[in-house]
Amino acid sequence: MSTLNQNQNLTLKQNIQSFWIVGLVIALAALAGILGRPLAFLAMFWPANAILLGLFLRFKSLNNPGGWLGAFVAFIIADLMTGNYFLLTLCLTIANLSHPFASLTLIRLFKLNFREYNQGLTFFYLFLISAFGGCLASALFAIFTVPYMPNTFMAMDRLWTDFGMWWTGEILNVITFLPIVLALPSLKEFKQLVAEKRQQGFEIQNILPMLFIIASVVLVHFFIGPGAIMFPIAALIWAALTYNLFLVTLINCFVCMFLYNSISGYYLTESPDAYISTAISIRIGLFMLALGPLTLSIISLNRHKLYHQILYLANHDELTTAMNRRFFYEEGEKTLSAQTTEAEAETVSILVLDLDYFKKINDTYGHAVGDKVLKEFTAQVKSQIRSHDLFGRIGGEEFAILLKNLSLKQSVEIAQRICNKVDSTPILLDDGQELYISVSIGLSYQSLPYCTQIQQLINRADHALYQAKEKGRNQLCLEPDLQAS
Ligand code: GH3
Ligand code: MG
Ligand code: MG
Repeated sequence: MSTLNQNQNLTLKQNIQSFWIVGLVIALAALAGILGRPLAFLAMFWPANAILLGLFLRFKSLNNPGGWLGAFVAFIIADLMTGNYFLLTLCLTIANLSHPFASLTLIRLFKLNFREYNQGLTFFYLFLISAFGGCLASALFAIFTVPYMPNTFMAMDRLWTDFGMWWTGEILNVITFLPIVLALPSLKEFKQLVAEKRQQGFEIQNILPMLFIIASVVLVHFFIGPGAIMFPIAALIWAALTYNLFLVTLINCFVCMFLYNSISGYYLTESPDAYISTAISIRIGLFMLALGPLTLSIISLNRHKLYHQILYLANHDELTTAMNRRFFYEEGEKTLSAQTTEAEAETVSILVLDLDYFKKINDTYGHAVGDKVLKEFTAQVKSQIRSHDLFGRIGGEEFAILLKNLSLKQSVEIAQRICNKVDSTPILLDDGQELYISVSIGLSYQSLPYCTQIQQLINRADHALYQAKEKGRNQLCLEPDLQAS
């Protein structure tokens, strides 16, 4: 009973929260649209419906009766503030709400996994559903209700023109504002982005696309004409291949709004009679234009992600996630390579680690437990080294570590710490048993200038490892030259 009450309280709280969040966002978006509305016309810029759809898609917890009620009240209040009478306001509000409603219904019907909107063609289908579902539904509802009541912006004698204006206004708003809400980074992602940018530092090639975007819209201003709508396409493609998706959505929005303003402004003065049909044509054109960079940005994002996933799989051991032998040697060679311009390390220490009596573990507990031991051992070692040290699995139960820029003393301390950690940390088996393992380590050390290859350093460490095994295992041995020093 009390759980039921708790659940009811939680749902009520969620609904109230959604009411306020959605209500405030939509009220602001609707007011922005109303302020940009030419008197006695439908709004050119009406981001509220697309933002509402975005909110419900992006934040599932807002899509509840409270959220819908919040949007409804926000639309009504914002519109009543402009002086419209209630029945007209009600019809306009229902027309607005039918956009997200129809889009969400179709998304559910076609089982579009919108959470993965940045995968494959999902984004494209989302626009298709929204343009030919939600936007169309909204425009149809409007023309079948609004012209039948006294108003200044829709009339029976120009029904199809009004339909075109409403529908194209909606699709333009969808392509400009929906992607922003969907790609909006979470606070954590935002912090990560800022940190990455800071690490990268200033690079001229990072701001060039942005400068070209600005140059292309300035060009639109000075050489306005039928071709102007395509002026920014090259810069948009460049931006889509350079920036993250969120920035691309912002740039896209800016370019669309700017182009719409400039081009429709121009045609309005040139031929006011053809304004409506021209505006419809420009809006459809801009919708098509904006689809390009958005789709490209998503494809590029996915390709980038996939490339890194494949690269990771190719370079790491599947079982332990340590570097595989080839990658460890490759990276080790790079560190030692004389050609490395910025000397990567002034000293290197190589540790070769081999688990003691591992065959016995396999024989006693089975191969699966052996695998578990290898995984846990890797985690224990990783906890003792720095993230930029190289750690690879170079054989069955044999591993190697390359430590950069440490004194011999520090390297010995780390190796000793690993030995102790492995020795003192039991591995918990599925049946509750605690399994104690140990590792033997051989260490070789080299300071600049190196004329040694990684294989030689590993051989030297391997030799020391052999001695550690000879001396009774579970210990560290240094190569003979170091023992003397
Ligand atoms: P020592 O203390 O001298 O190193 O003895 P040892 O038993 O550890 O050494 P030995 O080289 O005889 O045995 C290594 C064993 O590691 C043999 C092999 O079956 C096992 N092994 C290698 N790769 C894997 C793996 O991926 N998973 C499991 N479970 N066992 C592996
Ligand atoms: Mg062994
Ligand atoms: Mg071995």
